[in-house]
Amino acid sequence: MLCRRTTTLSTSTQQTRLFHLRTPNTPRLNNLSSTLSFTTVPTRVRATSTAVPLIFSRQFSYTPSALASTTTPDDLKASPLAPVDFAAIEQKWLKRWKENKAVEAQAGAVKAASAQELPAGEEPDKFYILSMFPYPSGNLHMGHVRVYAISDALARARRMMGFDVVHPMGWDAFGLPAENAAIERGIHPNEWTVKNIAVMKGQMEKILADFDWDRELRTCSPEYYRWTQYLFLKLHEAGLAYQKEAVVNWDPVDETVLANEQVDSEGKSWRSGAVVEKRKLRQWFFKITEYAEDLLQDLDRLQHWPERVKQMQRNWIGKSKGAEFDFKVNTSGSSGDIQVFTSRPDTVFGVQFLAVSVEHPILESVPVSHQQQLEEFKESLKKVNTSETEPGPEGVPTGLMADHPFLQGTKIPVYAVNYVVSDYGTGAVMGVPGHDERDFAFAKTQGIDVKYVVTPEPTEGGKAATEGGVLTGRGVLMGNNGEYSGLTSEAAAEAIVKKADGLGFGREKTSFRIRDWLLSRQRYWGAPIPMIHCQGCGPVPVPVEDLPVVLPMDVSFTGRGGSPLKQIDDWVKCSCPKCGGSAQRDSDTMDTFVDSSWYFLRYLDPHNTNIPFSHAKGTSGMPVDVYIGGIEHAILHLLYSRFLSKFAWKTGLYGRGPEVEDKAGKEPGRGEPFKVLLTQGMVQGRTFKDPVTGAFLKPDEVDLSDPANPIQKSTGLTPNQSYEKMSKSKYNGVDPEDMITSHGADATRLHVLYKAPPSEELEWDEQSIVGMQRFLAKVWKVVGNATQTGAGTGAFEPSMETMNKDERDLWRTLNHTVKELTTSFQSTYAFNTSIAFLIKLTNQLSTVTPSSSTTTTTSQPASKKAKKVQADVSPELYQHTAEALVKMLSPLAPAFGEECWETLQSRSSSTSSVKTPGTTPSVFSETWPSFHESALKEDKIVCGIQVNGKSRFNIEYDVSELPGDKAGQEAFLRDLVYKHERAQKWLLDDGGKVRDVKKMIVIKGGKLVSFVL
Ligand SMILES: [Zn+2]
Repeated sequence: MLCRRTTTLSTSTQQTRLFHLRTPNTPRLNNLSSTLSFTTVPTRVRATSTAVPLIFSRQFSYTPSALASTTTPDDLKASPLAPVDFAAIEQKWLKRWKENKAVEAQAGAVKAASAQELPAGEEPDKFYILSMFPYPSGNLHMGHVRVYAISDALARARRMMGFDVVHPMGWDAFGLPAENAAIERGIHPNEWTVKNIAVMKGQMEKILADFDWDRELRTCSPEYYRWTQYLFLKLHEAGLAYQKEAVVNWDPVDETVLANEQVDSEGKSWRSGAVVEKRKLRQWFFKITEYAEDLLQDLDRLQHWPERVKQMQRNWIGKSKGAEFDFKVNTSGSSGDIQVFTSRPDTVFGVQFLAVSVEHPILESVPVSHQQQLEEFKESLKKVNTSETEPGPEGVPTGLMADHPFLQGTKIPVYAVNYVVSDYGTGAVMGVPGHDERDFAFAKTQGIDVKYVVTPEPTEGGKAATEGGVLTGRGVLMGNNGEYSGLTSEAAAEAIVKKADGLGFGREKTSFRIRDWLLSRQRYWGAPIPMIHCQGCGPVPVPVEDLPVVLPMDVSFTGRGGSPLKQIDDWVKCSCPKCGGSAQRDSDTMDTFVDSSWYFLRYLDPHNTNIPFSHAKGTSGMPVDVYIGGIEHAILHLLYSRFLSKFAWKTGLYGRGPEVEDKAGKEPGRGEPFKVLLTQGMVQGRTFKDPVTGAFLKPDEVDLSDPANPIQKSTGLTPNQSYEKMSKSKYNGVDPEDMITSHGADATRLHVLYKAPPSEELEWDEQSIVGMQRFLAKVWKVVGNATQTGAGTGAFEPSMETMNKDERDLWRTLNHTVKELTTSFQSTYAFNTSIAFLIKLTNQLSTVTPSSSTTTTTSQPASKKAKKVQADVSPELYQHTAEALVKMLSPLAPAFGEECWETLQSRSSSTSSVKTPGTTPSVFSETWPSFHESALKEDKIVCGIQVNGKSRFNIEYDVSELPGDKAGQEAFLRDLVYKHERAQKWLLDDGGKVRDVKKMIVIKGGKLVSFVL
């Protein structure tokens, strides 16, 4: 059962070959074996003492440095159990989990209810753990493995803690790659997607991720996008979906719209090679700006989000307070105003020009003399900019002049520029080159003499350095600001806006950087926009009962002639739902960000055929308790999800309304979808470069026989090494399937979690994965020893008073470990530290011996006559600790954990005979271990001694000896200190006399004593 591929070797040969360490037959173990009865142990266990299969059926090379901290020779003593075959264990438990799914689910619910001591009929607390769902590219990468290892471990542990866990998985299945595959390889996007999903689902199984597959969804299925369309209609109904013109990339040869990714670095179409143009199309937008203030304010409610992410969102929303001023423009025929927004009204006296976007309506009044230059400039902007850097500011004079509202008779020129966009603010800004970097740069291109109006706090010399640069800081208004001269920027801004308001040419204004969400895509593989365009009625929503607007499957993909949908006549042509006349469907599909901005709500009620999700399920299920995904989604995906979730909450699709929820103190509240956000760092691969040419080297070009000293095979030189984002072009990628095949899923998962805290970058190092295998092998030995203790399983409640020192030490370590793991799974997610604790506990278990079953009274030392190398602990404590260890390890290494648990349970002597394999309940139906605060107290205190503020030496004493009162503590500690040999040097004079002590202070409950001489 355990060993699928077995190679029989003698014990010593096997041990020597794999570990180069000592032979296993120590006298102590021989002794142990001889005292144990084998009647309850299957014969194959006994057989291991003479012939054993390989411990790891998967070969690996052992690097001693890799696990210096986690191994001792002791872990290699012979185990009473057959060695572990990780591959066989994984297969066995994958199969068992599938078979028992229904049974376990039912047992889990009952257990969850009883763990929370709920009255009958009431439901246990839910806990919603969500990994960002993947795009079905066809291959899991190490970044996926990292996310799923975290979320799977969390889900399993939370179930053991008694929560009703929701842990779904699905597919962000619409998008461009499928459509490109269709154009390039002639495979239908649907077929390509379905195939990839099947492959990736298999890979997820291989990493032992336990998702709620009964909640699985794919955004490309009509059952899902029907409700994406429904939400579009709801937004439209609320006035939050509207149409306006927006610029697209246009391929003039293929006559089609291109996504940014389809425009190459030279600004040419990926397919036709034509120079791509900017063209305007009427497109759909979601009015996310309507929620800007909410989206900004409610970031403060997100206590468990990384500050970095919140700051990125704040910057994206970009709220700035300022003012709006009207500048009068007198043209030959007509006159008009140019409104500008500024965040610096204190610099209004420094305005030297106005800059407007090329779409600004005032440009219709440009005098003939300037029209041709303006047209040429507009034409030049149509080319797509593809360089990495933003273009510098460019512009042309329009011949228009504006009146400065504060400086009577001052005329300022109006420029049409490339750096002001029409859909931001008013499409015009005031040009203040002295105090704005971009205006300064533009002024230089036009030869404008820069004027300064604000100076930083005047220096002692009286004058601030103003010439030659730009002064963006606030300060004091200079003498050229009329009645405002000498005021601070803040005071001046207030006074200037007040004056302008009174005279009617200005007002206070708040502006946001965020723009409305452009969601129309001129593509096929997306959710069709559920609108119909009628000549008479305009855009008309598709009636809800007609949803979904199904994506036709019979399409040809040429990549030419615009959107494929537009070319399907009998799909586009329809009748107007309002007037019945002939009309046309909107042939655009939605941005895939729309699909992914509400999927977490659908998971809560994935099979609902009447509405996107029921109010009750949405209300009880939201918010997501822990959301795990990459930092690359810190802005758009999270912002869009917050928008949709807030919209659903505000419009009553879920939630109990602000009044109830604000009082109930629900966190984070106000429709915020994600309570804890865990952004995991990137997985980076070891990267080698030719030291001379800088070219990336393939793995087979580097000799890694000594991993610490790689050598470039062709040159014999040491290549340059670094850790970089995994990519094909750098030859530094790692295939998760290879890792699992070579090292097992459990060890791979542990390795991923152990190498770095979740939020930090992970430098993938395959060499050290062996450390985790050795750790598991050690746990297996502990489990084996536990099966021989003769102790029963089940409840165990020792008393500190009756335990000997070794037992107290072990008990304390166990309790520390339980506390650490519990905290980690509940709030800190520091799985790397958790694993370190488990390793420590395992090491400690390996150094103790469960004393023979005759010494059940643990207060008596087991044996006094022989000086023992091994410490003794009671069989009950050993068994209990091993069980707790296995329970805590199981969420991290699930198949191995199950195998250990089954072994512990089925071999325990508390049952009269060995249980039939397969009848032991899963470890995941067990209750999470609890810890006792009282057990965490140290026996010994190491107390630091400071003399005149410097640490000089330590003393050690038993906690129990420290008196409770202050005076008693001082006397006790003083006595100990002066007895210490180091006191000679620091507290006595040359003649051995005690030096005068001005002050002695006992700090931290006796952990630090400070002497002032
Ligand atoms: Zn109509």
